[in-house]
Amino acid sequence: MTRFSPISDVLWPRTAPPADEAQPLDSAVEAEICIIGAGYCGLHTALNLSKEGRSVVVLEADEVGFGGSGRNAGHCTPTFHHHSLSGVIEMLGARRGDAVIGLQLSAADQIAQIVASYDIECEWVQNGYVMCASTRGRLAAMAQKRDDYNAAGQSTRLADADEVRAITGMHGQFGGWVHPGGAHLNPMGLSRGLARAAQGHGARIHTRSPVTGAQRDGARWRVATPGGTVMADKVIFATGAYTQGGWPGLDRTFRIMRVMVGATRPMPNATEVLPQNVTAHDGRGNILVYKRDAYGRIVASMFPRMFGSRSRMLRLLDSRLRFHHPSLPKRLQWECLWTGELDMQRNTIPRLYHLGEGAIAVTGLSGRGVPTGWTVGQVLTDWANDVPEADLALPLEPLAQAPSYMAIAPQLALRAYELRDRWDEWRDGQPSRPW
Ligand SMILES: Cc1cc2nc3c(=O)[nH]c(=O)nc-3n(C[C@H](O)[C@H](O)[C@H](O)COP(=O)(O)OP(=O)(O)OC[C@H]3O[C@@H](n4cnc5c(N)ncnc54)[C@H](O)[C@@H]3O)c2cc1C
Repeated sequence: MTRFSPISDVLWPRTAPPADEAQPLDSAVEAEICIIGAGYCGLHTALNLSKEGRSVVVLEADEVGFGGSGRNAGHCTPTFHHHSLSGVIEMLGARRGDAVIGLQLSAADQIAQIVASYDIECEWVQNGYVMCASTRGRLAAMAQKRDDYNAAGQSTRLADADEVRAITGMHGQFGGWVHPGGAHLNPMGLSRGLARAAQGHGARIHTRSPVTGAQRDGARWRVATPGGTVMADKVIFATGAYTQGGWPGLDRTFRIMRVMVGATRPMPNATEVLPQNVTAHDGRGNILVYKRDAYGRIVASMFPRMFGSRSRMLRLLDSRLRFHHPSLPKRLQWECLWTGELDMQRNTIPRLYHLGEGAIAVTGLSGRGVPTGWTVGQVLTDWANDVPEADLALPLEPLAQAPSYMAIAPQLALRAYELRDRWDEWRDGQPSRPW
């Protein structure tokens, strides 16, 4: 069984408003829809359905936002990380591809509306996202990205090195792709706020209620936890990378990949870092993505090295940030460093699994879950509302294990990206970058 990283290391539960009280399930209850997992996928679905007046119970093994939704780096970038838009259409077909693209590209604006309507305190800032070009060749390739996203209704643009420096404060970049719709946030604040909003519409949320199994009982489902049961017409497993038990084999539909996030102590005067308060991506294969929180902390994430110690990882964050912001001190004061788990699977677009009549699971978001959790929430809502399978934006598939090569493929891909970066940088005649 996977051992998850401790949530006690994470900054966000301390800086988000406290969660509303929620009790473990301790009796037998009834609902139209039982949702398992209080992350973004489960909570957006619960909010939509409870708003429509449906009776919803959410069961969460730990606390609201315990999984990726309470511990991510806090970037809401309404794009596809691993695929071009034409790649999404190629994979899903024109109808589904267009539908998923439409959802994903509007996700940040939709979340902004939810945050505003329910007054969710989550440090939401929608000042844009800048993906930098660390080599000349990469800037040229970004023109295609700009054209594709703009053809799909976005207003993105390319910026030259000077404009990138003005927006992000970054030195050593050749330009970048600016997406004005990108946002950043306190992810636990959003999770807790979504839970409160859903509860406001009548959804019942039970924390510390790990689902141990779900069985067909006549035309309904009996969902079991140690303290009680839910009889429901429909069951949705939205347990992501943090799946523990609940449904046999669900935790084999993906492979875990760890991400690391560091947060400095507040540095309110370090305004040379991200002066326009955007999210910045340094453009390299092993990404460095960072932002400032509401208190002036720099919050930066990257993939950890397989055998890297905590101090080595922090030194790497120091040197990567300082490469772009030379006025930063050599050693930043790090307040916390945590890791978290991604549910990686081969095609990196979320997978919906048909578990039986009236039962479904979603896993495999493979990162970028802040916008994608909203997207998935819309698809799960359609499913719960009996939209025919053929009209769902994502296909329903039989449960299948992720291929075993997925245990190492993401790590190998990272190493390959690093080699490619070093080669491209050397060819550009650039000074060696920290890696
Ligand atoms: C360190 C890190 C950094 C990231 N950074 C970003 C970022 O900056 N931007 C971005 O868009 N995405 C980011 N992601 C990805 C994003 O956070 C996730 O994709 C997203 O939160 C997944 O949401 P989810 O609802 O699928 O699952 P989760 O949020 O993981 O929720 C699943 C929930 O199910 C519960 N559960 C599991 N099993 C059971 C059971 N048997 N019974 C009851 N409950 C159960 C878990 O306890 C958990 O709370 C990051 C992820 C990590 C880990």
